[in-house]
Amino acid sequence: MKIVTQGASVTDQMPTVLHTAERADWERRAAPRGAIFVMRDRLVCEEQPGCVLATTAPTLTFGALEGLRILARLETPIVLLMDQARVSHADAVQQTLELRHARLVEELATQDARVDGVFCCPHWPGEACDCHMPQSALLRAAAATLNLDLSRSALICDTWDQAYAALTVQCQPILTMTACGRAELALPMWAELRARAWYAADLVGAALCVEATISGQRLWQSLQPAPLAHAM
Ligand SMILES: [Zn+2]
Repeated sequence: MKIVTQGASVTDQMPTVLHTAERADWERRAAPRGAIFVMRDRLVCEEQPGCVLATTAPTLTFGALEGLRILARLETPIVLLMDQARVSHADAVQQTLELRHARLVEELATQDARVDGVFCCPHWPGEACDCHMPQSALLRAAAATLNLDLSRSALICDTWDQAYAALTVQCQPILTMTACGRAELALPMWAELRARAWYAADLVGAALCVEATISGQRLWQSLQPAPLAHAM
């Protein structure tokens, strides 16, 4: 594992690559592969205000390790996506984030879990970048960097904006019922997005859903609350 940072400036409009697995591993593979994207915040890591410059690995949320262990049983690449607007205004923040996520990857590797890439939108929402969801450049940048097939991938998320970003690149969104995800369900939303999203209780449920789908069991159908498919 190593840290790869792309781009001469963190103030441009490109996503920031905080971590990828060894590049040669991706370049050896001729055909793009499907991947499992996971939104880092709330689903994998908890961040307290003011901890952005901490040097320790981010704190895992309850159930995150178990969910990542389930995903690690698959051969599918696991990619974390995140927003961190402070990156675009401080090189030190980016360097600290790279260090913290390198430690996170190392710690996960000692606990039968795995993360193959971490990609970050470094912009404030008002900067009108292409990578802050519901824009899809973060997904596309990860796909281009790691040779991934988005149409054979899933995004485990907890907002409609994230689910929408996935659908626009033919990636399957799985909306989880974090506190944020439950609140999102109450919001008016495009009926097709509600119908096309899959639903899971948490990261563990979403990971089991992915595992069952890849193995052909289609367990996700039993995890999807029936009324949601017909709402709105
Ligand atoms: Zn951005």
